[in-house]
Amino acid sequence: MAKILIVAEHAGGKLNPATAKCVACASAIDGAQIDIAVFASDAAEVAAQAAAIQGVNRVLKVDNPANAEALAAVLAPQVAALAAGYSHVFGPSTTFGKDLMPRVAALLGVGQLSDIMMAESAWRFQRPVYAGNAIITVEASQNSTLVATVRTASFQEAPQGGSAGIEAATVAVDLPTHTRFVSRSAAATGRPDLQTAARVVSGGRALASAENFQLIYSLADKIGAGVGASRAAVDAGYAANELQVGQTGKIISPELYVAVGISGAIQHLTGIKDARTIVAINKDPEAPIFEVADIGLVGDLFKVLPELEQVLG
Ligand code: FAD
Repeated sequence: MAKILIVAEHAGGKLNPATAKCVACASAIDGAQIDIAVFASDAAEVAAQAAAIQGVNRVLKVDNPANAEALAAVLAPQVAALAAGYSHVFGPSTTFGKDLMPRVAALLGVGQLSDIMMAESAWRFQRPVYAGNAIITVEASQNSTLVATVRTASFQEAPQGGSAGIEAATVAVDLPTHTRFVSRSAAATGRPDLQTAARVVSGGRALASAENFQLIYSLADKIGAGVGASRAAVDAGYAANELQVGQTGKIISPELYVAVGISGAIQHLTGIKDARTIVAINKDPEAPIFEVADIGLVGDLFKVLPELEQVLG
């Protein structure tokens, strides 16, 4: 039987929805026993949220002042220690999981399976290759612990309604001292987080300046959306690095994705292929983005966006 340990992602006392998506992935494995590990200085609040996810068997809370900040270097040896007795260790394919899980795999002396899109069985999985242009089925070895990241855009959150038991776990390992938390600098925008937002408005090179990119923020705020950007817009300095959507940026799956002045390069489309409804605004009717868009508007963004905002009121 598969015994799966999922590492919870959380911040500010809130469980990230990516964790419930990992549970959805693990739940597809017949008969899997799913435990969640929560690492924090005081994990009680987050552990309670994890216990409420359907399909979870047990939540292990690992309270330690050293876990006050989610430092991958500090968490990895603790996850590796907890992994004994588990056949699988899953984490989300988010910035948090991509930082942590390879370290866990290295400490366990195994390879990592990245970006699970579908679990066919406990040991057979589908994952994207070639920037999402092809999907391969991979079979993992049953002789060692399988450390994997789950492509969160491929799964809906497992529903609420669970009532798993919560247990305090002690992990007796030496923690590294070479990495320590200094400070956090994050723009407090009040906008939904790009990776979990139900709606996202993204701007491309066509915005032509950081000042003009305010048009994107303005539309996003009108519809309560997160903000994204193409790599060209990021490279040109119109938008912050963490807003990049695509192969080398964030992979997202919002209900609504509005691409403004973005051509639709394959590397960008990789990041939005799981978006439910794609709206494209582009002045070139031949732009490749229209091939994937559900709703296309051919026009100059500098004319269209103000009009759109006016209609939205
Ligand atoms: P462009 O391709 O220049 O498109 C601008 C669009 O705006 C055009 O379609 C044009 O018709 C339209 N336009 C111009 N003026 C107006 C106007 N006034 N009104 C309306 N429309 C207008 N890209 C990403 O986005 N994310 C990634 O993660 C990423 N990773 C990459 C990884 C690799 C290894 C490589 C090689 C490339 C990667 N890229 C990525 C870059 C990608 O190939 C494209 O270069 C990039 O996506 C183009 O950005 P863009 O659509 O904003 O710009």
